[in-house]
Amino acid sequence: MDPAKRASLGTRSEVRDDAQLEEQVKDWLRYGEDLGLGPFYRDRAPLHAIAESAAAPVATQTIATSSVISTAVPAAMAAAAASRAPASSINAASASQKSPASTILPASAPSLFEAVERIAGDTLPRIREDIGDCTRCKLHKGRTKIVFGTGNPNADLMFVGEGPGRDEDLSGEPFVGRAGKLLTDMIKAMGLQREDVYIANVVKCRPPENRLPEKDEITTCSPFLMRQIDAIKPKVICTLGSCSAQTLLQTAQGISKLRGEWFDFRGVKLMPTYHPAYLLRNPAAKPEVWKDLQKVMAVLGLQPKKR
Ligand code: URA
Repeated sequence: MDPAKRASLGTRSEVRDDAQLEEQVKDWLRYGEDLGLGPFYRDRAPLHAIAESAAAPVATQTIATSSVISTAVPAAMAAAAASRAPASSINAASASQKSPASTILPASAPSLFEAVERIAGDTLPRIREDIGDCTRCKLHKGRTKIVFGTGNPNADLMFVGEGPGRDEDLSGEPFVGRAGKLLTDMIKAMGLQREDVYIANVVKCRPPENRLPEKDEITTCSPFLMRQIDAIKPKVICTLGSCSAQTLLQTAQGISKLRGEWFDFRGVKLMPTYHPAYLLRNPAAKPEVWKDLQKVMAVLGLQPKKR
């Protein structure tokens, strides 16, 4: 074969790598479709892609030139992992990160998974509409009502629990049972009303017997939570219990290690604390939660409710 033509085709292993990478990209796109996110790569451009579209037509190059993906995705995922580190370690993590020479996405770009969830101009009604009468995971079989979330769509503070319990399943409102009443008291102690904040859960349908949501259920439902966070743009997210902290921070670390520390979730300050249901069983942990909430209040400039 003409050496120039051979060089332009690449080595056999490069050709095979390209085919594998193309398969991986197709898998990602199928995964997005499976999550019900629709043709995000056509009409729902990620925010960073819109900002940079003049400089680099990311969406078309990503599909057409698979070698772009091979370096762009791992670099972006490393950046995303750095963005989930405790706030104190973020600078060190990003300073030590180098982007490969052939990368088109900037090293600070969100991973493909995160890019899927960033929808320009997204709104809570649109997210609710996209959820529809959801049957994406097995939780739909036992639910009475989808518990989407409630509160101020422009809230500075957002609480994220794990999933609806019996009372929430019946009413369609998050945190209305015993744990919910305690959460409402905690919000009032912070000098706020329930209507001032936004409250949502990782999964929108009640897990049977109030068991923890399973991995596939979390993977299916959490993109809607990410979209809620992006639409509300709170200054602080307070996660309640291990499920929501572990889901948003993508960690297996236990809640007792995570609580009381500030984390960064895609530019939003995140404070994990114990779940109010845990406090009902272990009232001795209340002072620790109050300490965590005081850190949140300091950031938001809130004064405790006068007794
Ligand atoms: N527990 C949660 O995590 N969420 C609710 O909405 C109710 C109880």
